[in-house]
Order: sequence, then C-alpha cells, then structure tokens
Amino acid sequence: MSLNLVDAKRNSNEINLLTREICGYMHWLRAEGIDFWKKTELRPAVSAPQTQTLEMVRAEMGDCQRCKLAPLRTNLVFGVGDSKAELMFVGEGPGADEDIKGEPFVGKAGQLLTKMIAAMGLSREQVYIANIIKCRPPMNRNPELDEIAACRPFLDQQITAIGPKVICALGKFSAQTLLNTQARISDLRGKFHDLNGVKVLPTFHPAYLLRNPGEKKRVWQDLQVIMAELNLTPKGHQ
Ligand code: SF4
Repeated sequence: MSLNLVDAKRNSNEINLLTREICGYMHWLRAEGIDFWKKTELRPAVSAPQTQTLEMVRAEMGDCQRCKLAPLRTNLVFGVGDSKAELMFVGEGPGADEDIKGEPFVGKAGQLLTKMIAAMGLSREQVYIANIIKCRPPMNRNPELDEIAACRPFLDQQITAIGPKVICALGKFSAQTLLNTQARISDLRGKFHDLNGVKVLPTFHPAYLLRNPGEKKRVWQDLQVIMAELNLTPKGHQ
C-alpha cells in the first residue's frame, strides 16, 4: 500500500470516528430535551436605523435652541412641499418675510422662485423647498459656521426623509455648504454634483436674479438641465 493510500485510510477512519461522536452528542442533547435544530430567529447584530419622516425630523427639532439664532427668530422655518418630492430646492436661510410667515421663499425672491418652478411645469406643492438654516440671521447676514454646524444635520435628515432625485442649490452659500466647497457659484452652476448619491445642481439665487435680471437666461438653462434629468415638460408644452 502506498503512503498516500495509508494517509487517506487514516483520514477516513478519523472522519468516521468524528461523525459518530457528533451523532452521539446530538442524541444525548435530544435525550436531555435540548432541540439542537430548533429554528432560531436571525437578527441583525445592529438594528437598522429607523427611517425618519419629515414629521419626525420636525418633532426632533422642537422649539430648537441649538444655536444663537433661536432668540432672534419669530418663526422657525422648517420647509414646505411634497414630502416625497423628486426635486428639492435649498436656499440659504429665511429672510424677513419668511421669518414672519414661517415658510421659506415667500417674499419677492420667493415669488420669482414660484415662477421658475411653474416654468418647469411644476407647482410649489410638487417640489420641496427648504433652507440650509431654519432661523433668520440678523440683518440677513450670512449664517455663521457654528449656526450651520448646529442646523445642517436637520437639512440632511430632511433630504434623507424626502429622498429627492435632484437638489437645486439656490445661490453661492447653499451650493458651497451643500457641496462642502469654496468654488465660485459661476463655476459650480449648470452641472450636477454628487451629494451622497443625490444629484445637486447649483444655480443663482432668485434674490440675485432680482438684482441682475440679465442672468435669468442662464438660470433657465440650468433649470432645463434638471428638467431633462426628471423628464419634465416646460409650461405651455404639455
Ligand atoms: S438655526 Fe437651526 S440650529 Fe439654530 S436655533 Fe434655528 S433651528 Fe435651531
């Protein structure tokens, strides 16, 4: 008998012996009333994070006092629109009109945004509109880093809850904050950028358009990029 055959026979004997021992151990377990094969429920080691709805995000904010803008506000401006919108608009922060009404983009710039949305063949109710921060900075100054750090998590939760296909970042501040970049709005606008799998297209803020109506043409070009992505038909062509 060759050496290999001797090794194979020895291995086979060891496997048989091991199998008999396992079978004997299982019989003993059964005799002791332990059902070895009892079906057990498989559970993930870590429970999956609960999907938050917009209502849950708003409830978590409550009467938010997380930054120094809280005592200055009339109303916290959370956001409005379709909670499952494919398209979301994100501006910088509430202005005076928004602070009073508790709704984003309701002043002159807001009226222009409403017209832009209508030109895309949509209504305000079919999109979702929010801001980077939810309380009005004094004198409409830019939000400060500590304010953004305190408020940004709620915008991220809103985005997760809504699950938009496209976010239109309105203005330099929104685009730079969302995309974590210092690039100029003129370099960022008109093309898609990635935010955790969501397509972000920056364009000029409606308030900037009110001061520079000559730029409306470029904004319309930007909106058409979004419309092509979402298969939207412009108003008047339906
Ligand atoms: S800006 Fe945001 S973080 Fe600051 S108080 Fe308002 S809701 Fe809270």
